[in-house]
Amino acid sequence: MLKHLYRSSILHFLSDPDINGHDAYEFFEDGALIVVDGKVVDCGAANALMTAHQDAEIIDYQGKLIIPGMIDTHIHFPQCEVIASYGEQLLDWLNNFTFPAERQFEDKDYASHIANFFLDELLKCGTTTAMVFGTVHKQSVDAFFEASQKRNTRMICGKVMMDRNAPEFLVDTPECAYTDSKELIERWHEKGRQLYAVTPRFAITSTNEQLDKAGQLLKQYPSVYLQTHISENKDEVAFVQSLFPAAQDYLDVYDHFGLLGRRSVFAHGIHLQPREHKRLRETGASVSFCPTSNLFLGSGLLDVATLEKEQVAYSIATDVGGGTSFSMLQTLNEAYKVCQLQGQKLSPLKSLYLATLGNAKTLELDDKIGSFKRGNEADFAVLDFNSTPLMTLKQSRCKTLDEKLFAMIILGDDRAIAATYVAGKCAHSKLTSI
Ligand SMILES: [Zn+2]
Repeated sequence: MLKHLYRSSILHFLSDPDINGHDAYEFFEDGALIVVDGKVVDCGAANALMTAHQDAEIIDYQGKLIIPGMIDTHIHFPQCEVIASYGEQLLDWLNNFTFPAERQFEDKDYASHIANFFLDELLKCGTTTAMVFGTVHKQSVDAFFEASQKRNTRMICGKVMMDRNAPEFLVDTPECAYTDSKELIERWHEKGRQLYAVTPRFAITSTNEQLDKAGQLLKQYPSVYLQTHISENKDEVAFVQSLFPAAQDYLDVYDHFGLLGRRSVFAHGIHLQPREHKRLRETGASVSFCPTSNLFLGSGLLDVATLEKEQVAYSIATDVGGGTSFSMLQTLNEAYKVCQLQGQKLSPLKSLYLATLGNAKTLELDDKIGSFKRGNEADFAVLDFNSTPLMTLKQSRCKTLDEKLFAMIILGDDRAIAATYVAGKCAHSKLTSI
């Protein structure tokens, strides 16, 4: 039995700091995290834990900050190369950049190459879990899970279901989307740390028959997830209304086919109406806030305060390649600005809560990841307050924990991640990768 003691400042959350204030988190200036066999055994003040665990091997990260591995609830691995594509909003951006790029994932070797690249980028940014879109090709999802399994990362992924309003080379049929998804669920769901998400791209690209098949899969496999997009762009919303004239609104299209539940994640949700908020609350489905993508594609500003007021569950995500960074720190930076533009506040503690325990809760994974609760899987990131000269200068002027965390969020990116651990194993270290 190998026991490790990581000595560092440590921050993790027990609940939402907007609700429970200082009781919502634990911060140990001189702290220790004890890990045995990939699981958290203890977390607390260094002095006490060093006395209690004298048999542990000590890894010294003093001066740095350990937080739980960050979680990204919406991202597309086949869009690594689509990032930073100029000049379009959602529907043209899909047709001109995304669909041609996704065509390449028919080739499994190519899919494996990009899946490995993608996972390394996430780990470099301190992200240890993500909810990920594949392409319409089932081999893209096999390639992804194989790469994730090799790293032992806890990942959620699914094959895109898409049987209309897309190029001929990228469409499936209701029947083959169903059989391919079923085959992938049987092969990958709950295999090691891998989890499956039924993945209709969005209402525009699926027929009634295909959405019905997605609902059937959720009924047959109640522990799988559902991921899709909703109300990202006004032209998209109008298109959906024209395709589904009988639906009360966009969310009602998905609701009709049984796609709403506690494991359903709807990316964006910028232009949702009050009835849709109410229905999300009733079903426990969540919205994924993707600030860099929403700004980049000119989609709009998510009204986070209204989601809070209406008690709609939400998480935070990058949405690469509509999003412009793999870094959750940079994503929180942009989230802060999206809130500022609407006269709303996003505190540094709430931001880091969202990126860890908050996101874990929306994925119903908070009994496994997102905090350093005893028995949790030991996924964590080591943050460096001195990753650039500017960061060092700014941090030297910060007096409180809030100020230090805020400067980390606004100035930090992949350079601020000194190391990333996956189930107690070092999966990225700046020291070794330089
Ligand atoms: Zn997306």
